[in-house]
Amino acid sequence: MEKYTIKNFQTDFPNDDVCLDWLRHQRWPETIVCEGCGREAKYYRIKTRKVYGCEHCGHQISPTAGTIFHKSRTSLTTWFYVIYLMAQTRGGISAKQIERETGVTYKTAWRMCKEIRKMLAEDVDPMDGEVEVDESYFGGPRRGKRGRGAANKTAVVGIAGRDNGQIEAHAVPDTKSRTLLPIIENEVNKGAQIYTDEYRVYNSLHKMGYGHEKVLHSHNIYVMGKCHTNTIDGFWALVKNGIKGVYHSVSPQYLQNYLDEYTFRYNHREDTTPMFWTFLGRSVLAS
Ligand SMILES: [Zn+2]
Repeated sequence: MEKYTIKNFQTDFPNDDVCLDWLRHQRWPETIVCEGCGREAKYYRIKTRKVYGCEHCGHQISPTAGTIFHKSRTSLTTWFYVIYLMAQTRGGISAKQIERETGVTYKTAWRMCKEIRKMLAEDVDPMDGEVEVDESYFGGPRRGKRGRGAANKTAVVGIAGRDNGQIEAHAVPDTKSRTLLPIIENEVNKGAQIYTDEYRVYNSLHKMGYGHEKVLHSHNIYVMGKCHTNTIDGFWALVKNGIKGVYHSVSPQYLQNYLDEYTFRYNHREDTTPMFWTFLGRSVLAS
């Protein structure tokens, strides 16, 4: 991945006007057929507002409309900077750190992070080849007790494609067959070779049309040739470490919001484009 430093950021986005202009050019070409007058038009910035107007009739377009930036009292430069900070980190950044770095209130920082994560939610194509599937448990007030059915914890099912290098993670209400199996069916193509632990729900995979091998964790065996869940285990460790101390609630939606951020960064780790541009690009895609 190409480097993108804070110096690059400051040069590219020195002020709100530049940020707005970037959004405008991401969303529309230089000349547009105006919705107001139907003519080919250039649009000019209307200085007092965050909009551009048609050169013929004055019809206005708003580059922030439908984006996370719209109607926010936080400046675009601060938004872009928070996106920069979130994109640069590998393990995640807390709202507390954002507050310190940008001077916005904790509440604002928290809300911005949530909005940015929301735009990162994306679907990965169904996986083929070798695939690891595993569930893990997050949150909950009590330490120590882990494993299936642990009280007050939110379950997450993770699917890691070894061939495409991608991960999907879904917060789920429980880990019953009727919850887990449809997700697997949706995300993994038939014929794929699936590696799991010994959880009995996975016993159905074979008759569902998948190749299936189990890692015998109960025998303290974690790797047998290709049969392991190390990829997804590594991902769980990364997320758990990142949300440690941040994450108290166990609401699945809240957890999903974090998972979307971590899977996005993971799934784009081999991109040549700097992560910041990939993150920022989502802000206009999601609109
Ligand atoms: Zn016009």
